[in-house]
Amino acid sequence: VHELTLPTSFRGEQIRPGDGAYNAARTRIFNTAADAKPALIVRPIDVDDVAAVMRYASAHELPVAIRGGGHDLDGSGMVDSALVIDFTRMRRVTVDPAQRLARADAGVLLGELDRATCAHRLATVSGTVSNTGIAGLTLGGGIGWLMRKHGTTVDNVLAFEAVTPIGERILVDPTSHPDLFWAMRGGGGNFAVATTIVYRLHPIASPVTGGRLVYAAEDAAELIALWRGLMLDAPRELASTLIIGMLPRFPFVPKQHHDRPGVQVTVCHVGSQEQAERDLRPLLDYGNTIAGQVKPTSYLEIQSMSDAMGIHGYCAYELGGYLPPRIDDRPGERLLARAFDTPPRRSPVDGAVVMLTRMGGAVDEHPDESAAFAPEGAGWYWNAVVQWALPDQAEPMRKWARSVRDDLHEETLDRCYVNLTVDQGEDWLRRAYGERKYGRLEQLKAEWDPLNLLRYNKNVRPGNGASHGHESPGLMTAGR
Ligand SMILES: Cc1cc2nc3c(=O)[nH]c(=O)nc-3n(C[C@H](O)[C@H](O)[C@H](O)COP(=O)(O)OP(=O)(O)OC[C@H]3O[C@@H](n4cnc5c(N)ncnc54)[C@H](O)[C@@H]3O)c2cc1C
Repeated sequence: VHELTLPTSFRGEQIRPGDGAYNAARTRIFNTAADAKPALIVRPIDVDDVAAVMRYASAHELPVAIRGGGHDLDGSGMVDSALVIDFTRMRRVTVDPAQRLARADAGVLLGELDRATCAHRLATVSGTVSNTGIAGLTLGGGIGWLMRKHGTTVDNVLAFEAVTPIGERILVDPTSHPDLFWAMRGGGGNFAVATTIVYRLHPIASPVTGGRLVYAAEDAAELIALWRGLMLDAPRELASTLIIGMLPRFPFVPKQHHDRPGVQVTVCHVGSQEQAERDLRPLLDYGNTIAGQVKPTSYLEIQSMSDAMGIHGYCAYELGGYLPPRIDDRPGERLLARAFDTPPRRSPVDGAVVMLTRMGGAVDEHPDESAAFAPEGAGWYWNAVVQWALPDQAEPMRKWARSVRDDLHEETLDRCYVNLTVDQGEDWLRRAYGERKYGRLEQLKAEWDPLNLLRYNKNVRPGNGASHGHESPGLMTAGR
C-alpha cells in the first residue's frame, strides 16, 4: 500500500495513511458511511499533474478514484485502499462576459462558480447546494433552479478539457471528439478525467424572486394538490421543489414545529417581479404558512438557501426517480403517508424527507439522444433523502427510503437521473440510460477506458455495445 511512488514531475500534494492531514482529507466528503481509507490521496495543482498521475496509474493498471466536490451519494470520491485524485487544489474560475462563458477547474464548487459569474449578472444551470462539486454534477447531468429556463447543466456545457485514462490531454467538444462529448455529458466520470469545464452563461435577473414557505401537516394534502396544479402549467421562469417530512431543527423553522410533520415549498422565479407576483399568486393567496417567505432576493441567496442539506461527514443514502408529467393525487398521497412515518431522529443531523421537483420546460427541448443525460419527457423528479450519524440508524433509514421507492414503483419511469440516487447495480444502470444509450456508453468505455481504471462511479463496464441499437446486434458483436 505504501509503495505507490509517483514520478518526481508530480508537483501537487501527496497524503498517505499516517500523515497528519490524512484523516481530515479522507473524510472531507458528504457520505462517509464507507469510512474509506485510501492508499494515497494526491492533490494535483494543474493538468500536467493529473496527466502524470494517470500515466502512472495506467502503467501499473491501478484503478483511480476521483474526488471533485465530494458529494457523491455512494461516497465514491474516496475509496478504500485506492489511489485518489482529489481536485481540492484546482479551483480556478474565469469568466468571459462578452462571450458569455465560464471556464472552471474540476475542483470548483457550485457556489464558487455562481459567485464568479453573478459578478457579471450571468449564471449557468447548476445544482441547489453550494458546496456540491461542479465536476461530478456536470458529468452526471445537472438539474437546478435554472433548468426549466435554460435546460440541464449538460445542455450548457461547451467543452471539457480532460485527461484520458492513459494520461493524454485532450479537448472534448462537439467537433474534436463528438462521441466522447456526448458521453461525458451524463455518463459520469467513466471515460476521462475532466480537468476544466467550459459553460455557457445566461443573463440572470437581479433580483430574482424566491425563498421557502413552510406548512403544517394538516394543510399538506391540499397544499400538494395546489402546488402540483401550479407547477404543471408553470412558465419556464418558475422552478420549485417540495420537501415533505419531519421539519428540521433549522433556524427557519419555529422551535415548536421542530420534528413535527410538515411541508416546505422552495421556489425560484427568474422573471420580472411583476411576472413572479402573478405566477406565484395562487401559492401566496393560499396563506397558512407557519414560517418562511418568498421575496425579491439575489440568485446567490437562492443558490445557498438549501445548504444545510450538504453537511459533510455523516452517513447518507438516497433513491430517486422520474414521474410522468400527468400525475393524479395518488403519488402525493403516498408520499405524505410515508414521509410522516420516518424513523425517529436520534441525532440532530438525522433526517428523512421526500423531495418532489418539477422538471419540464426547456429540459424537454433537448431530445433524448442529444446527450447521455437528457430527461426529455420526465415531468417530475422524486427523491427520498436520508442522513444519519449513529451506525445503528443505517438500516432503518435505508429501509425507509426503499419503502418510498416501492410506494411509487407503479408511476416511476424506468429512466433515472444517476446523480441523485445511490448505485443500484448494472441492470438498474442499464434501465436508467435505456438500452440503446447504455450500449453506446459501453462501446465508448471500451474505446477510452478498456481497463476500467475509472471504475469508482456509476460504472459502465467496457462492452461491445451489443445493445447499442444503431446497427444490428449481430454485426456489432461480430465487429468487436
Ligand atoms: C447535498 C446534495 C445536494 C445535491 N443537489 C443536487 C442538485 O441540486 N442537482 C443535481 O443535479 N445534483 C445534486 N446532487 C447530486 C450531485 O450532482 C452528485 O452527488 C455529484 O456526483 C456531485 O459531484 P461532486 O464532484 O461533488 O462529487 P464527487 O464525490 O467528488 O464525485 C462524484 C462522482 O464523479 C466522479 N468525478 C468527480 N470529479 C471528476 C472528474 N474531474 N473527472 C472524472 N470523474 C469525476 C467521481 O469519481 C464520482 O464518481 C446533490 C448531492 C448532494 C449530496
